Amino acid sequence: MDLILHNGEFIREEDLVISREDRGYQFGDGIYEVIRVYDGNLFTAKEHIDRFYDSADKIKIVIPYTKDVFHKMIYDFVEVNNIETGQVYVQITRGAAERQHQFPTQATPVIIGNTKSVERPIASLNSGVTAKFIEDIRWLRCDIKSLNLLGNVLAKQEAYEEGFFEAILHRGETVTEGCSSNMYGIKNGTLYTHPANNLILNGITRRVILELCEELEIPVEERPFTKTEALEMDEFIMSSTTTEVMPVVAIGDHKIGQGVPGELTRKLQTAFEARIQVGVKS
Ligand code: PMP
Repeated sequence: MDLILHNGEFIREEDLVISREDRGYQFGDGIYEVIRVYDGNLFTAKEHIDRFYDSADKIKIVIPYTKDVFHKMIYDFVEVNNIETGQVYVQITRGAAERQHQFPTQATPVIIGNTKSVERPIASLNSGVTAKFIEDIRWLRCDIKSLNLLGNVLAKQEAYEEGFFEAILHRGETVTEGCSSNMYGIKNGTLYTHPANNLILNGITRRVILELCEELEIPVEERPFTKTEALEMDEFIMSSTTTEVMPVVAIGDHKIGQGVPGELTRKLQTAFEARIQVGVKS
């Protein structure tokens, strides 16, 4: 059985004790990260760890390790569980204290994590997936990778029940992102995506995609686009740590372009694959 991470130690799942007063349960008072593992290597680990620390900082949780120590911990965790292709999940909560909304004067943050073997979603990457528009009812600090995911969960469930892979969230007419992904449209050779502000999570995959666009000389405009513009895009993409550069071939019952993954999407996928096969231990 894989070991789990608890406050810096690798322990057996059955030995884990979490307080019923943990603020993660009571308030979703914590943040998390998911890091991909390819061929035993952590992918873009530094970026994920930086974001983990940034999110914690934004909600005033102090992570009791230096980034280097934490990085090594995650690296060892993947190694101890022998993960080849998979992912690491890690979260930190403000800790356990008698339930009251304001921060407790004394609480020790609790870090837990687990690893999991999971293959790349090759079939979907080849065929593309479908998505549906759903109103974005989340709070106004979507830049924080918060454990509070009810708005995301409800939208994903609605999409899932109707047979869609993802929801394309929108505030009024403006497309923001997915429930657990970033969204991009490509029109006349230019890639459009919502700017990285408080209304979206600045995905690590998003940052890689923007770098790849520069390498491939695909012009990028980080500006909000509307639902109507989305439907008129030549190509549409969603991205995340687990779904990589995923073509969206239809929104609702409306086909995007020819209803198959487009040329620039394929180029970005190929360039992304080249990155993950670099195989540098990080
Ligand atoms: N937006 C949201 C709301 C997400 O949950 C995720 C996935 N964690 C993303 C975007 C994509 O981020 P990343 O590429 O870092 O996985």
